[in-house]
Amino acid sequence: MTYILPILAVLLSFLFVYLIKPKKKEGIKLLLAFSGAFLLALTVFELLPEIYEGTDQKKVGVFIMLGILLQIFLEFFSKGAEHGHMHMDSSKTEFPWLLFISLSVHSLLEGVPIGDHHSMLYAILVHKIPIAIILSIFLIGSKIKLTSALFFITLFSIMTPLGTYLAKNIAILSSVKHELNAVAIGVFLHISTVILFESSEGHKFNLSKLLVISIGIIIAYFL
Ligand SMILES: [Zn+2]
Ligand SMILES: [Zn+2]
Repeated sequence: MTYILPILAVLLSFLFVYLIKPKKKEGIKLLLAFSGAFLLALTVFELLPEIYEGTDQKKVGVFIMLGILLQIFLEFFSKGAEHGHMHMDSSKTEFPWLLFISLSVHSLLEGVPIGDHHSMLYAILVHKIPIAIILSIFLIGSKIKLTSALFFITLFSIMTPLGTYLAKNIAILSSVKHELNAVAIGVFLHISTVILFESSEGHKFNLSKLLVISIGIIIAYFL
C-alpha cells in the first residue's frame, strides 16, 4: 500500500485531468489549501516531536534548516511546481528536464518519512493529488507530446515510493535516515507554509479557505 497508493494518486489525477479537463480553478485551490494545512499539521504533530527525541537537538535543527534551503534551491528550477505553481512556458515542446529533476529530488525525499510514519502516507497523498492535477493541466495544455507527458507523470509518480524503498533498503541511506527525515521535515515546513501563504490572495477574508484549513488541522490532530 505504501508503495502503490502514491503512484495511483498521481496517475489517477492525470487521468482525471485528461478525461474531465477541469476548468474551475477554485476547487483545486481549496484542495491545495487543505493539503497544505494537513501536511503542516501532521509534520508538527507527528514528525517534529519525534525527530528531537534522544539526539543532538542542534544537529537536528541544522538538518531541518538544510531541508528548507534545499527546497528554496529546488524551486529555482521547478518554479514552485511542488506547491502548485506553474510558471513554465507551455509553448515549449521539449521535455522539461529541470522541472523533472527538481520535482524528483523533492519527491524522493518525501518518501523517506512515509516508511516509519503511516499517517504521513495520507499527508503525502493529499499533497500529491492537487500538485499532480496542476502538473497534468500544464502538461496536457502545453505543446509537449502526450507520450512525453505520460512518461513524465509516470516517472514522477514512482519517485516517492522509490524514496521510501531506498531509505529502507540501501544501507548507506538507512544509516542517515534520521538526518534525511530532518531534511524532509524542512521541505514539508517550507512547501506547506508557502501553500498556506499563497492560498490567501491579497489577504482577503475567505471563509471557505479558512474552513478547509481548519478541517485539515483537525483531521491531522485525530489521525
Ligand atoms: Zn509559488
Ligand atoms: Zn511534494
